[in-house]
Amino acid sequence: MNNEYDVVIVGAGLAGFSAAVEAADSGLKTLVLEKGKTTGGSGNYVEGVFAADSSLQKKQNISIDKNKVLKEEMNYSHYQANHDMWKKYIKESAENISWLQKHGVKFSEVASLGTGLDTWHLFEGLGYNAIHMGLEPYIKVKGIEIKTQVKAESVYKISNQDFEIKVVNSKDNSTEKVLTRNLILATGGYLNNEKLLKETTFTEKNKILPMNSGKSTGDGLKIAWSLGAQKYFTGMKMRFGAQLKDENIPPYKLWESNLGGLVVSAQPCLWVNEQGDRFIDENHAVDDWSCQGNAINRQDKVFVILDQKLIDYLTDTSIIKDMHPFYKATTIPNLRKEIDDYVNNKNEFINVANSIKDLQNIINTPHLIKTVNRYNQLVKQKKDFDFGKPKKYMISIDSGPFYAIEVGCGAYTTGDGLKVNIDNQVLDQEGKKIKGLYAIGSDGSGIMYGDTYAVEVPGSHAGYCVFSGRNAIISIKKSLIKIVTNEN
Ligand SMILES: Cc1cc2nc3c(=O)[nH]c(=O)nc-3n(C[C@H](O)[C@H](O)[C@H](O)COP(=O)(O)OP(=O)(O)OC[C@H]3O[C@@H](n4cnc5c(N)ncnc54)[C@H](O)[C@@H]3O)c2cc1C
Repeated sequence: MNNEYDVVIVGAGLAGFSAAVEAADSGLKTLVLEKGKTTGGSGNYVEGVFAADSSLQKKQNISIDKNKVLKEEMNYSHYQANHDMWKKYIKESAENISWLQKHGVKFSEVASLGTGLDTWHLFEGLGYNAIHMGLEPYIKVKGIEIKTQVKAESVYKISNQDFEIKVVNSKDNSTEKVLTRNLILATGGYLNNEKLLKETTFTEKNKILPMNSGKSTGDGLKIAWSLGAQKYFTGMKMRFGAQLKDENIPPYKLWESNLGGLVVSAQPCLWVNEQGDRFIDENHAVDDWSCQGNAINRQDKVFVILDQKLIDYLTDTSIIKDMHPFYKATTIPNLRKEIDDYVNNKNEFINVANSIKDLQNIINTPHLIKTVNRYNQLVKQKKDFDFGKPKKYMISIDSGPFYAIEVGCGAYTTGDGLKVNIDNQVLDQEGKKIKGLYAIGSDGSGIMYGDTYAVEVPGSHAGYCVFSGRNAIISIKKSLIKIVTNEN
């Protein structure tokens, strides 16, 4: 490793790699630091990125009104999002897709999510392929250095121009110093930092189930705050919705369970809270995972209630709600066996009984019998007078054994902590930029949101990772040109 760079990028995830590619094309001497053994971060799991008016959308005859997207985001955030940043991002989003394609990234289709717009440009082979078969090989060919198992530990500003980074090599615990004019923080937020989650948004550990790489420990935020950055919290967690409370499965594998990934999060079954009461139209909840997550977080406990008839139906006959583009099969053939295994293994999140009365006692929900009776009555009446769930998803709960699956709120990332300007430069307590310091991706996304991520515009966070990585480098390039011009 050399020890002087134009740019050091901390974090080799989706945003970090996007910045690195733009830096490679700009001829900047660049180092990428990654604390994990492997690169990609949570970017490896990303399905797709937002764009409006891309060539792929045109091919699929999809037309997106950019002003409508802008208004949608401003309204959704109650005008807490930054108008100018969104405008810039939306304007450049179509070009972002061509840029990704030019750098080896392949897309399978453009899709929507739930009731959202058709803006989700799905990667062929998830973010894993986009990074490992596109962006990473590209920067390697261009001679950009990537160091894995090297963590940016702390940073000092040693002159008006330079940052000194102390890095720790986790293979042998050795340390080194690296100098750079520009530092880009791309460490993926703080979803895996329990203390910070609790301090900033009062989110208790048992309320949020991270479903990410496990490496988002808030390092970028801590580095920026140590350099005088403003603490900027909106409370935004990208909530995924219902997920199994299974402590035996690592976070990044939670959705691999059929019961977790295909049923509790995506089929509008009967849901009750700690009292045994319904609290939401379960179909709307499935369509809008972020809002589903908010509703789950407001309850003390949430259970998904299934009976054997429904499990058999989903296993052998048909799913009840289409799950395109995630899941294209019409049944969930492994579901019954998987549930039996969970029961046999005595997994704590699954409760089973031969009657609703026994189930009510086991999970200590005083109103469960009343709720199930009412639900079955509504099924007979073919109308959900209570919550307005469409009748095709109203299926009676009447054939034992009966199951109560305890779920929590899954989450993908945080989206706050730092304030940046529209060039992704980090701002201090007074709103002034800290020279040479940039935050991108989840670290630098606070100005994009209110308290809730808008699933209505699918792919907007991952698209922002790409956009903000490029945006920071474009700004750095301009500042370097200025320095050279002034020196001449
Ligand atoms: C399963 C999943 C699916 C998702 N799907 C979508 C989607 O389809 N569309 C969408 O819009 N959003 C999606 N997201 C949300 C979001 O786009 C991703 O979380 C995205 O990866 C964020 O990119 P990032 O670069 O900010 O962080 P990451 O991709 O997580 O990269 C951060 C990297 O920084 C490294 N790092 C951390 N600290 C240090 C340090 N001190 N020194 C060196 N390296 C460090 C980490 O190890 C990690 O590799 C998804 C998230 C998940 C978890």
